[in-house]
Amino acid sequence: MPHISTGDLFRANLKDATPIGLKAKEYMDRGQLVPDDVVLDMLVERVAADDCKDGYLLDGFPRTLAQAEALEARLGPDDDVSVVNLAVEDDVIIVRASGRLLCRTCNNIHHVEFSPPAKPGVCDNDGGELYQRADDAADVVRERLRVYHDQTEPLVRYYDNKGLLTTIDGQSAPDEVFERLEAALPARG
Ligand code: AMP
Repeated sequence: MPHISTGDLFRANLKDATPIGLKAKEYMDRGQLVPDDVVLDMLVERVAADDCKDGYLLDGFPRTLAQAEALEARLGPDDDVSVVNLAVEDDVIIVRASGRLLCRTCNNIHHVEFSPPAKPGVCDNDGGELYQRADDAADVVRERLRVYHDQTEPLVRYYDNKGLLTTIDGQSAPDEVFERLEAALPARG
C-alpha cells in the first residue's frame, strides 16, 4: 500500500522549489498548517495516481475538519476506511521530534538518542546525509502541538463517532505499535 505523507510531499516540493513547496514553507517553518486548499489540491493529485487504485495509507492527513470532509466527499460508498490515532504525550513528542534526524535521500528516520546512526550524520539504510527538520526545533514543535490540539485533535472524536477509529498507545515498544497498527488496518486479499 503506498504510504502518502502530506508532510513528505511538501518537503519534496520544497526541495524542487515548486510553487506549492514555496507556499507551504511559509507555514511549515512557523509550525502552522498549510491552507486546506493547497493541501487538498496536492493530495487529490497524488491519490489519483495508478498505485493508489487498490488503497493507500495517509499519514498526517486529514488535519482539519474541512480536510476530513473533503476526503469523505471523494470516497465511494464501498471504500473501506480505517483511522488510526497514535497517541503520544506532548512531552514525549517534544523529545522525539527535537532529536529526530532524517535522511535526505531515503527519508529514513534516526534519533540522536533512541536510534543513533552507526556513523554520525550518515543514514544506516542508504548512506545518505542526515539532517534535522527546521520545524523540529523544540519551540516550533510546541507550536505544532498547540495547533494539533486546536485543529486536529477534534478529529479523534469525529472518527470515533463514526466507528472508524482505533487508538494505539504510541509509547509502547516499536514492535508492539507495528503489530497493533497492522491489526487495525483492513485485511487485504
Ligand atoms: P509532518 O511531516 O506531517 O509533520 O508535516 C510537516 C508540516 O507540513 C506541518 O507542520 C504542516 O505545516 C504541513 N502539513 C503536513 N500535512 C498537512 C496537512 N494535512 N494540513 C496542513 N498542513 C500540513
